[in-house]
This record gives sequence, structure tokens and C-alpha cells, in this order.
Amino acid sequence: MQECGRCHVKIRGNKRCCPLCGGPLSGEPENPAFPALPKRKFSRLSAVKLAAFLLIVFLISDGAMIYIMGGVPSWIPLSVLSAVVGFIDICVTMYYRNNALKTMQVQVIIGIFLSLVIDAVTGWHKWSIHWVMPVAFVGVMVATILIGMGLKMALQEFVLYLLMDTVLSLLQWIFLLKHMNCFQIPAVISSSACILMFLGILIFRWRDFTSASSRYFNI
Ligand SMILES: [Zn+2]
Repeated sequence: MQECGRCHVKIRGNKRCCPLCGGPLSGEPENPAFPALPKRKFSRLSAVKLAAFLLIVFLISDGAMIYIMGGVPSWIPLSVLSAVVGFIDICVTMYYRNNALKTMQVQVIIGIFLSLVIDAVTGWHKWSIHWVMPVAFVGVMVATILIGMGLKMALQEFVLYLLMDTVLSLLQWIFLLKHMNCFQIPAVISSSACILMFLGILIFRWRDFTSASSRYFNI
């Protein structure tokens, strides 16, 4: 332990001079009282920078490919779209990475949107509305409940995600009512299951829901 010759205070850690009077210290320095936390080597900014660089590399090589081949190959638009969505996805994940639920919600919505676009671009075989949307909406509802309970969150912290997922799952009825979905069973089961899960939570945990709504919407 170090000691100041003027103030006669004992000083922990390793100081060059007395923190009170600035005078010289005698005695042996110790290891610092508070350990220095190791700095995170790979920050979220460097992740986004890396993703942006890869996106630029990808777009430039696509451009070079178009020039070399003298035309636009059919897979180029899809690959550019995937790269841009992938980039947005990485940014969102980095931005919300301390919030597992928000990250998952955004990922699922991006995934559903991407599957719709890919399906539409590749001949509209409707696998996106027949299978991807129904499974994704039920999956994200169940996962939200499991994550919320697993992280021991109060229901009011995640009930609005469940509301949003339920409302989004009802979008499947646009395809059903417009007769764009000829294979209706999964979509009907999916939106019904989402409504049931949400209503179940609403009925059994009404108080949590009202306190969350008043916090978010001031009602
Ligand atoms: Zn001193």
C-alpha cells in the first residue's frame, strides 16, 4: 500500500502522486482496486462497417459480372435484393442486440417479406403464403412467449409484441379473402392460433395488458 508523506493517508492501487495534495508517495503500489474491463474487440460499429464493405464488394462484383456477360443474368436482381436485406438485417441485429425479442420480431418480419418477394420473383408458386407466413407467425408468437418467460420478463414488457404479431398474422386474410390463397388450411389455423394465444393472455393477464397500454399509448 502507498502512503502520502504529507497527508499521511494510505492509498490503494497504483498512483503516481497523492490524489489529495499531489505530494510524493512512499510504499509499494498495489494492483488497482477496480479491475480494468477488457475492451470489446469487435464493436457493433465494426460489424456494420464490415457488412457495408461486403455489400459494396458484392454490388461491385455484380456490376462487373453484368458488364462481362453483356446483360443482366436472371439471378442478379434476387442476389442484390438478398444482399441488401442481409445488410439491413445485420444493422438491425447490431442495433437491437441487447433486446432479443425486438431482434427476433424484426428478423421474422424481414424473413416473411423476403419470402414473399422471392416467391413473387420466382414465378409465384405461393409457398410463401401457403407455408412460410402461417408457420412464421405461429412460431414468432410461441417464441415470444417462451423468450419472455425464459428471461423472466413481466408480461407487460412483451405483450405488445404479441399484439403486433397477432395483427400481422391477420394480414393472411387479405390473401384468403382475395382468393389468392387456394390452400387455405395453414393460414386459417395460423391466424386463429395467434388470436387464441393473444386472447388467452389478454383474458388471464388483463392487468398487465392495461398497464402496458397506458405506458405506451397514454390511455
Ligand atoms: Zn497527500
